[in-house]
Amino acid sequence: MRKRIIAGNWKMYKTMEEAKQFVTEVNERLPQSEQVDAVVCPPSLYLAALQSMTEGRSLQIGAQTMHDVAEGAFTGEVSPKMLSALHIPYVILGHSERRQYFNETDETVNKKVLAAFANQLTPIVCVGESLAEREAEKTVETVALQVQKAFEGVTAEQAKNAIIAYEPIWAIGTGKTATAEDANIVCEAIRVEIDHLYDEQTAAAIRIQYGGSVKPGNLGELLSMEHIDGALVGGASLEADSFVKMIEVA
Ligand code: PGA
Repeated sequence: MRKRIIAGNWKMYKTMEEAKQFVTEVNERLPQSEQVDAVVCPPSLYLAALQSMTEGRSLQIGAQTMHDVAEGAFTGEVSPKMLSALHIPYVILGHSERRQYFNETDETVNKKVLAAFANQLTPIVCVGESLAEREAEKTVETVALQVQKAFEGVTAEQAKNAIIAYEPIWAIGTGKTATAEDANIVCEAIRVEIDHLYDEQTAAAIRIQYGGSVKPGNLGELLSMEHIDGALVGGASLEADSFVKMIEVA
């Protein structure tokens, strides 16, 4: 049985005070659960403060991105070594907004995935097709290639602990969700690709999230699908109430 994982991606939202309020409320309300990993990924500026607020609690903290080298002259960047030193467990890599606005490519995503594992961080590797790719019936091909490239040089042991987030770009922040069946088909194709790259055990162990306009009302149906193990949630993760509801659904 794969443990479910609900991760909130706050993107560039919230002041420090709002972030702390959210964590205080969620710390009070979140049920202790062995069944689900509950994660929020705030802007990097808040990581240290929120990490110390959640020590020993069930809410976990993740980063939204990072550089791929330990240190150096890279103005504005945050390194895997820095995240690891704070004991941050997760880092989102290759989100479509990073690919679209910050020139991330399959190659840079791969470097970051390798750096995450080298620094005891669990990567949440984002893949997903554009609307044009979906309409051209290139969804599975596109996503399988992204997975293949992101996992180049990653061992089976590492891959077992990775998380893949399938996020169709046309469903992010648009209110349009893939149907649970469609999302499941692509998540199954991702699992098949992991089986090709590694083996059956790795494919059975790796956790796959769906992302794109997930909210408390549609999460249950998505999670009822065989190959969907959780969700990566943007907008609906910003309110403590709806975040807690999603953890309860999971
Ligand atoms: P959304 O964002 O839930 O607001 O669609 C998802 C994401 O970008 O991870």
